[in-house]
Amino acid sequence: MKTVGYAALTAESPMAPFVFNRRALRPNDVAMEILYCGVCHSDLHTARNDWGWTVYPALPGHEIVGRVTSVGADVGRYEVGDIVAVGCMVDSCMECDQCRKGEEQLCREGNTNTYNGQDRVTRENTYGGYSKHLVVREEFVLRVPQNLDLAKVAPLLCAGITTYSPLRSWNVVPGSRVAVIGLGGLGHMAVKLAHGMGAKVTVLSRSADKKDDALALGADHFLLSTDSDAMTKAQSSFDLIIDTIPVKHSVDPYVSLLDVDSTLVLVGQVGPMAEHNSVPMLLGRCRIAGSPIGGIKETQEMLDFCAEKNILPDCEMIRMDEINHAFDRMEKADVRYRFVIDMASLNQGSNP
Ligand code: NAP
Ligand code: ZN
Repeated sequence: MKTVGYAALTAESPMAPFVFNRRALRPNDVAMEILYCGVCHSDLHTARNDWGWTVYPALPGHEIVGRVTSVGADVGRYEVGDIVAVGCMVDSCMECDQCRKGEEQLCREGNTNTYNGQDRVTRENTYGGYSKHLVVREEFVLRVPQNLDLAKVAPLLCAGITTYSPLRSWNVVPGSRVAVIGLGGLGHMAVKLAHGMGAKVTVLSRSADKKDDALALGADHFLLSTDSDAMTKAQSSFDLIIDTIPVKHSVDPYVSLLDVDSTLVLVGQVGPMAEHNSVPMLLGRCRIAGSPIGGIKETQEMLDFCAEKNILPDCEMIRMDEINHAFDRMEKADVRYRFVIDMASLNQGSNP
């Protein structure tokens, strides 16, 4: 099926209209019209080839909400008209121990990314949600709970699950002391979700002017990461730190904030780490860990948790043709706190 989206043709070129084909339905495929797509910092990293592995044309978008338009012959879970969602993966081997556990994000063969991945059948580059239509095998399609505001659901599919999963993996319970570094898309979801789980949440940010927002989002405390006195006072005071900083950085100032036997989880930076000092880790028997998105089962659990607790991101709606400006603002940490593209805007103006 011919469709349209926005893609980058090179690392230097801006996002621009791009006409392409979505595959014909395989028996286990669901086709959808995309209604909304969130803008993740990974989209920007990929469009600009920050990680060095982008295949062009690059058509990002992995926070997707859509309406089912047709289903393959073997699809049993979804019908035309259903409101569904797709996150960062569209396929995996489905046979290895991790896939069998519902941890497809950890597939031994590597999962298939929603964009900049390789289709397991045709080997073609995958194209994401900055487009009008999408075709995905049914096992990677999520059901959107009915009471959620659809325009705001999309960011849960990456920012939501990427922060929910480590909060669960490291057993956050009421009273846990959780710190979140970086108040952007992932960070603000981490605050809302940890607060929803009953944790005591502290935001660490470079931006003093985000303090009021942090408290309004559910944080109990705000720590300006450039305030060295306040950082010293906060030593040994957290059970879990979620680090969402999107660039290479030293974790040294943060590890010493961990209490004994506690963990700093990197979810933001992808690539070689800055050199760091082992002393705070040794002295506190602390760990530095990483975490990628979450499995399909856990993503559905997260959506249901958000529906139950009425947790949704703070979104700024944009038109598709505003994406380049949105990327520039995201680079300056000027997003409060997630851009969401209203895909109806692809029908308007000069778009094909
Ligand atoms: P974002 O909305 O741009 O937020 C990042 C926040 O980090 C900013 O708001 C800013 O917060 C802080 N920050 C930005 N530049 C910084 C710098 N140079 N030094 C220190 N702090 C800085 O980005 P996002 O969408 O949340 O994504 C964050 C990162 O997670 C990206 O690198 C993305 O690729 C990655 N990611 C990973 C996964 C995964 O599976 N692990 C999934 C999705 C995204 P303050 O103004 O509060 O300091
Ligand atoms: Zn993402």
